[in-house]
Amino acid sequence: MAGQKKEPAFLLGEKPVLLQGAMELEIAVLREALTDCRSFQYGAFPFWEGKLGDRPVVLSRTGIGTAAAAAATALGCTMFQPALVLNQGTAGGYPEGVRPFDLVIGERWYNSNALFQSRYGQDYFLDLEALEGESKESGFTGEKPFWHWTDREVLAWLDREGVHWHRGRALVGAIASGDRWNDCPDTIQQLEQATGALCEEMETAAAGETAGRFGIPFGAVRVISNNNRTGEPFDPETARALQEWIVRAVQSAERD
Ligand code: SAH
Repeated sequence: MAGQKKEPAFLLGEKPVLLQGAMELEIAVLREALTDCRSFQYGAFPFWEGKLGDRPVVLSRTGIGTAAAAAATALGCTMFQPALVLNQGTAGGYPEGVRPFDLVIGERWYNSNALFQSRYGQDYFLDLEALEGESKESGFTGEKPFWHWTDREVLAWLDREGVHWHRGRALVGAIASGDRWNDCPDTIQQLEQATGALCEEMETAAAGETAGRFGIPFGAVRVISNNNRTGEPFDPETARALQEWIVRAVQSAERD
C-alpha cells in the first residue's frame, strides 16, 4: 500500500544495487536473470549492468579473496555509483550445526587477516582503522575481533526476506572474512569459540571496508556451502539457490 512500503531508499531510487559474487558459479544465475544487460570489463573485473524486475542492478564478478574483492568494489563504486553494495556467495560453516544450505544474513564481520603478534608470541586481533591514527598498542589490538557492522536497513530487509528461504535455516549473525580456508576441525572450533562467527569466507571484509570508504551502504549474505568441521564438502548447488533467493528479493522489492 502506498506510503507503507517497508523498502529502504536504496531499493526505491534510480541508483543501482551493486551485487557481487566471487566466482562464476556465484553470479551465473544472477546474470541469467538480468534484463537489458550491458557488459563492461575493467582489467580482470567484469560488470553487467541491467535490471531485475524494475530495479537497476550492476552485477560484479569480483574474483576470490580480499585484494580482488576490494579492487572490484572500488571500481564498482566509482564507475556505477551504487545506492548499495550487496556481497553474496558461499561460506564454510563454523558451528557443527550450521550446515550446507543454511543462510547467514550478515549482521557483522571481522577481518581475519588483521592480526597483531606481540613480542611474546601472543596473537591479537588488529583494528586496521585505529592503526591508521597515532595510537598505542592497546588502542589497536584486542582479544576479541574488531567487528564491522552491515547497514541496519539492509540487514532488516534481508532478514524479512529470510521467510522466503526454504532450503535451510535463515540465520542472522557474524562472518569471519579473510584470505584463509580452514580445513582443520580443531582450528574451526577454536575460531568459533573465540569469535562467535557462524561462517568464514574471503570477500566480505574487503568489500565492506571499501564500500565504507566510499560512504555507500553495505550488506552481506552467505549460504553455507561446506562445513569443514564436520567434513561436509563444497556443494555448488548452494550458490545457485542463494542467487535465486536474491533475484526474488530484489524483484519483489516494490511489489510487497
Ligand atoms: N572451487 C572451490 C571452492 C572455492 S571456495 C571448490 O569447488 O572446492 C572459495 C570461495 O568460496 C571464496 O570466494 C570464499 O568466499 C568462499 N568460501 C566457501 N567456503 C569457504 C571456506 N570454508 N573458507 C573460506 N572461504 C570459503
